[in-house]
Amino acid sequence: MQAVQFAGHGDTDVIEYGDYPDPEVGSDEVLVEIRAGALNHLDLWVRRGMPGIDLEMPHVPGSDAAGVVREVGADVSRFSAGDRAALSAGVSCGDCEFCRNGQYTLCTGFHIIGEHVRGVHSEYAAVPEANLIPVPEGVDWAIAGSAPLVFQTAWRMLIDRAEIEPGESILVLGASGGVGHAAVQIAAYAGAEVYATGSTEAKLEAARELGADHVCNYEEESFADWVREETGKRGVDVVVDHVGGDTWRESIRALAKGGRLVTCGATTGPNPETDVRRIFWNGLSVLGSTMATPGQVDDVMELVWDGQLEPAIRETLPMSEAARGHELLEGREGFGKVVLVPDSVEEP
Ligand SMILES: [Zn+2]
Repeated sequence: MQAVQFAGHGDTDVIEYGDYPDPEVGSDEVLVEIRAGALNHLDLWVRRGMPGIDLEMPHVPGSDAAGVVREVGADVSRFSAGDRAALSAGVSCGDCEFCRNGQYTLCTGFHIIGEHVRGVHSEYAAVPEANLIPVPEGVDWAIAGSAPLVFQTAWRMLIDRAEIEPGESILVLGASGGVGHAAVQIAAYAGAEVYATGSTEAKLEAARELGADHVCNYEEESFADWVREETGKRGVDVVVDHVGGDTWRESIRALAKGGRLVTCGATTGPNPETDVRRIFWNGLSVLGSTMATPGQVDDVMELVWDGQLEPAIRETLPMSEAARGHELLEGREGFGKVVLVPDSVEEP
């Protein structure tokens, strides 16, 4: 089969699209013929290399994809050949203390398809049955192949971790990013008052279209000052921060008393300074979150299949242009998901 792959870490020039051994299908696995799979910022980190992650090379990247089931292992019961399916990339063991308690994302062996093991930006992928979600007829492959990672991440952050309520004020940083644009939609769906930040007028307009009630260009002003002004000095109930180093202090400053900061990433650095006094005096909560449990994935994908939540698609490229796709994400100008389609697929 053909697969996006790289033999060593580096810039986008390490990416190739070419022959790769066909996947072997384990007894609990399903072979999926991939129709579309989105890029995530995670793919950039994996390509560049991350401390503590030692990949088998050449590595096939990709943590989002959807396609048609072609073959199932002997122990697979939920899927059969011809079914439509999308991948949810988080893998948990099912046996550890946390899994037995339903806390799958806290699994001691938790890992992500595409990040720690072979990914799915290829013509075929063999993945555990537990990682597949049925996709109804009529749902575009580009939608099915780009929603799972960012929508499950944002869903768990807001609904499970921050437990947002209708009428609460929610600030979403980087509202044009993958997780950001999902978080804006989910917060609006949950009946919250949505505040969003972005770096250009076009991105802010897009955030408004997705459901943001108030928008701030963080290049032009401090978003914490803006929030204080917009809320009559009160601050917001929840901040969704996937940025880390560059925004942490302001995120904490933007919170109302009793507010919650929920984080899922640190793209600008992992060690920001924290004014601890603000945390105890204002009774703040800092909540961590990664991916989501299978039940939460089902809940949020149901809303995607219904069209109530929808990933924005910026561009669809053949997998042979995967390097350009990575560059589009690195450039940070555009808005929405970049989707890759195997070159052999004529109508994605
Ligand atoms: Zn486990």
